[in-house]
Amino acid sequence: MYSKKQKLSLLLPCYNEEANISFAYSEIMKVIKKMKIDYELVFIDDGSKDNTVLEIEQLQKKDKNVILIEFARNFGKEMATSAGINNCTGDGAIIVDVDMQYPIEKLPEFVEKWQQGADVVIGIRDKKKTNNLIEILGSKAFYHVCGLISEIEIKSGALDYRLIDRIVMDEFKRFTEHGRMTRALIDWLGFKQDFVSYEEKPRQFGEPAYSFVKRVQLALNTFIGTSLVPLKLAGWLGLIISTISGILGVVVVVNKYLLDDAWGWQVTGSASVGILNTFLTGIILMGLGLIAIYICHIHTEILNRPMYIIRQISKKK
Ligand code: UDP
Ligand code: MG
Repeated sequence: MYSKKQKLSLLLPCYNEEANISFAYSEIMKVIKKMKIDYELVFIDDGSKDNTVLEIEQLQKKDKNVILIEFARNFGKEMATSAGINNCTGDGAIIVDVDMQYPIEKLPEFVEKWQQGADVVIGIRDKKKTNNLIEILGSKAFYHVCGLISEIEIKSGALDYRLIDRIVMDEFKRFTEHGRMTRALIDWLGFKQDFVSYEEKPRQFGEPAYSFVKRVQLALNTFIGTSLVPLKLAGWLGLIISTISGILGVVVVVNKYLLDDAWGWQVTGSASVGILNTFLTGIILMGLGLIAIYICHIHTEILNRPMYIIRQISKKK
């Protein structure tokens, strides 16, 4: 069914997941054994304070395909998944949360689509089962704003459950930026995409580590990393403010001094000062916008992203 030649790396970021390690292993192995595919399980311990590492070392005793990457401290899931991508040896790699919220039964579908030629197979989560209104609205707003300002399309429900081919991993290694969202960088790379839809499961053991604050930080990083629009906002705002107050100022002056207040506005001194003040505020904002353009250039150069990504170069045979 599956090509034996291809090896799949499963990347499992773990932070304080001692209760989930052996459970995840047995769930994954049920599926892998049926698929008869060459595999490795790469556990990335993201500075856990519990017995996560010991649990992984137990697995290593019985399965030589279990690899442990142990961080010196907690660096966050994005760094853990990046370390997995940068160090695994598979022809393809799939990111799986160790709490098994991503249904591992879907793995054959991912692999099939990959072997049919997709370079990136993205899991799309069906509607999230949460009652937390802030979370629902927050995530809606995030994708909406991202859609408006981002250079790349970020699909709602497209989380980390995704399989990427070796060619994508090799390009991924070239990213040097620190404030990163792994999935956004994969999206940025492009390549041939295919999709698998899935339903998220509830967490079996332990507590979720991704706090609300971490999520907001991640969203901010993504905005800043994928768009320069927020930086330029001040400039646009200034332009609008100065244009409107400028026109108003001219009209007021013409009405008062040339038409002898033909329209009967009786504009007071403080109102005139107000208009002048608004006009000047607009000019200051435009100045900030100008500085922002320079910062945008510095930002782009510092990220030092690859200028382009080649999928293939072919020659006439
Ligand atoms: N995780 C990690 N480092 C962190 C936080 C989380 O490696 O600082 C891992 C965690 O062990 C889990 C995955 O990232 O395998 C998703 O985390 P969690 O279940 O807390 O997030 P949620 O399911 O709420 O998105
Ligand atoms: Mg989870």
